Amino acid sequence: MDFRYPAEAEAFRKEFRAWLDANLEPELAGDGLGGMSLEFGGERLERLRAWNRTLADARFAAIAWPEEWGGRGAGVMEQVVYAEEMHRAHAPGTLNPLGLSNIAPAIIEHGTHEQKADLLPRMLRGDDIWCQGFSEPNAGSDLASLRCSAILDGDSWIVNGQKTWNTLGNLANWCELLVRTDPSVSKHKGITCLLVDMTLPGVEVRPLETITGEKEFNEIFFTDVRVPVDATLGPVNEGWRVAMTTLAYERGTVAKLHLGTRSKVKRLIDEAKRTPMGDGTTASDDPVIRQHVARVYMEGELLKLISERALSAELHGRAMGPEGSIAKLLWSEAEQHIAEVATEVLGPDGLDGSWARDRVYSRALTIAGGTTQVNKNIVAQRILGLPRN
Ligand SMILES: Cc1cc2nc3c(=O)[nH]c(=O)nc-3n(C[C@H](O)[C@H](O)[C@H](O)COP(=O)(O)OP(=O)(O)OC[C@H]3O[C@@H](n4cnc5c(N)ncnc54)[C@H](O)[C@@H]3O)c2cc1C
Repeated sequence: MDFRYPAEAEAFRKEFRAWLDANLEPELAGDGLGGMSLEFGGERLERLRAWNRTLADARFAAIAWPEEWGGRGAGVMEQVVYAEEMHRAHAPGTLNPLGLSNIAPAIIEHGTHEQKADLLPRMLRGDDIWCQGFSEPNAGSDLASLRCSAILDGDSWIVNGQKTWNTLGNLANWCELLVRTDPSVSKHKGITCLLVDMTLPGVEVRPLETITGEKEFNEIFFTDVRVPVDATLGPVNEGWRVAMTTLAYERGTVAKLHLGTRSKVKRLIDEAKRTPMGDGTTASDDPVIRQHVARVYMEGELLKLISERALSAELHGRAMGPEGSIAKLLWSEAEQHIAEVATEVLGPDGLDGSWARDRVYSRALTIAGGTTQVNKNIVAQRILGLPRN
């Protein structure tokens, strides 16, 4: 492993840091979609939307996008520097985390010029909020089993079915929707991707309240929804290929996972140093707690090394390889371990506030974006060369 940040990336850091210092209002620092307790039309949402527009106007909303569509065509190192500087400044991200990194690459690669010109600028500025309608009650890890259907009727698709776990669905006015358009062929074929206006008649969003009390996820029901044929993204029945076009412009994602994890560990160490144990010592003097804190510290540092290995591969012109699955596995489990150790450090005080939220919320991380078991299968087959069964 051998890399250092190229001079252009450091020049970009200087420019972006100065811009953040000049433009990020102190009261916005630390806010964002995390916690997701945003209400449609609420004051907080509108404040974040204004910040999103400020980022977009300076072409800092989606730096990996091509310049033509308001990005900077930034390479991986600039993306990493961008994440580091946003993290350093506690700057809120945009209103479209899924839109910018997952949905836009599919539109840029497969969309018509009209679709790009119509949808991308509003997504970039946060004027529209997008959600991803992929998972269904019986199609998650095995996404290709999806059953939500669309039948052609003149110049419209008639959509019927249900999606679930839609992050931001309650705030979104657009959805990247996967539907079954040909049930007679094998399951990866016969899927089509539609760009659906969520205000169309027959679309019903039902928020799901999770154990944290937040309404981050939603079920979406489609009943005879008439979607114009020109809202089809890519060729009919090739929706699987369209859906797989994710992260094409955001390959820095793996490399930034460690930032939040390591700053949480740092916060936990500070908590341990100041939490009294009642006998004149602090939690950081307890030998068992010290071991557990040391373990999560090492998990954070290991995650950083994996990120750097991925970056090194990029800089030397090699494909990023399996680091994505390894980093996802390690990150999601580290986040759970940190929250568990926080409860040990804080005792009953850890059952309230942000550590308590992390403790329950972090359970979702080993499911979202590919479950631990599915990632382990990938590691077993593609890295260790083990047989499928
Ligand atoms: C925080 C969060 C955000 C999400 N956001 C979205 C979103 O915006 N849009 C969207 O469409 N979906 C979203 N999802 C859904 C997510 O993609 C699915 O939850 C995920 O793919 C798992 O599918 P499932 O829940 O149906 O579980 P299942 O696939 O039914 O899995 C159940 C269990 O079986 C195991 N399992 C499944 N297949 C295998 C296998 N082949 N080998 C070994 N074990 C296996 C799994 O690991 C799991 O433990 C989100 C989920 C979470 C938790």
